[in-house]
Amino acid sequence: MYKVLPKTDLPKLIGRWMEQATVYAPVRQGDFTKFEPLSDPAQADLYYAANTRYPPKSLFLPQSEVMFRVKDGEFESTEDEVSSRVILGIHSCDTRALQLLDGVFLTGDYQDPYWAKKREQTTLVVLGCADPCETCFCTSVGSGPFDKRGADVMLIDIGDEYVADVRNEKGQALFGHLPDASRKQIDKSRQVQAAAAAGMKKPFETEGIKDKLYSLFDSDFWPKIQQSCLGCGACTFLCPTCYCFDIVDEAQRNERVRNWDTCMFRIYSQEASGHNPRPTNTERVRQRIMHKYAYFVELYDEIGCTGCGRCVRYCPVDLDIRQIIRSAQAWEES
Ligand code: SF4
Ligand code: SF4
Repeated sequence: MYKVLPKTDLPKLIGRWMEQATVYAPVRQGDFTKFEPLSDPAQADLYYAANTRYPPKSLFLPQSEVMFRVKDGEFESTEDEVSSRVILGIHSCDTRALQLLDGVFLTGDYQDPYWAKKREQTTLVVLGCADPCETCFCTSVGSGPFDKRGADVMLIDIGDEYVADVRNEKGQALFGHLPDASRKQIDKSRQVQAAAAAGMKKPFETEGIKDKLYSLFDSDFWPKIQQSCLGCGACTFLCPTCYCFDIVDEAQRNERVRNWDTCMFRIYSQEASGHNPRPTNTERVRQRIMHKYAYFVELYDEIGCTGCGRCVRYCPVDLDIRQIIRSAQAWEES
């Protein structure tokens, strides 16, 4: 179902959603944007820069999350402390990341109730990328700037209006009352989508990457590419598909808390005996890359990277995952 929304009507529509739900959208913070709950529809900044600096995964896996607390000798779970939410302006790469993480948090017997509840309570209004930035590479990892998988609604900017591709009941609840898009508007939205994908850089080759990386496990490739890495962890904390966490009991607060962690830190893999199976940057950089392009493929049959480009943009020493994959594909042991 295709609906049409004049851009000038968006604030009014957001205001309507805000009466029933918490609405998150990119909000300007200095020289970047971040998903924040809106107190005024005018705060939504859908077009500043290419993507938010922080991915919206923190709305589902907070950087620090109380799992339960003990009150008067009783356990009090926090998993129900989330009500109806709308995320407006999320891009396809971050929506795909949530789908990939569903594989981690909602698989078989391992259902994470905190993740499940937030996913259930959230409607995703995706804004397709008409003008992907130079560091984006979604088309190299099986996706694209208008990938609709996981979207409840996909907005396509056709100038003065959005065409809203309403994908399911959740989307219909937000957009169902709007007028239908005309044939001309739908055709224009298709042209915008085709032009965006065509304008992206030529995708790099990921065919056979899992086996290639396994074959390089003990090679000289990793010591060579890790040389400039500072082990700062920025690439993992800003990555929409990284999900490592640690669980601690905060005794003074009577709370059990899970906090983001990262395989790029030396202490992450250190065992109680003092032994560390990933003692240097070589093993840690290898772990990060292999997790996304080999282990994730092995487990879920998907590349665990959505090509959002954040690790490329924000690595302080310009370690570029696209170049690492290209180099791995070309590497021959001497
Ligand atoms: S952001 Fe760059 S320097 Fe920091 S850990 Fe990641 S690859 Fe290394
Ligand atoms: S590895 Fe880099 S490009 Fe891929 S999803 Fe994570 S931050 Fe984005």
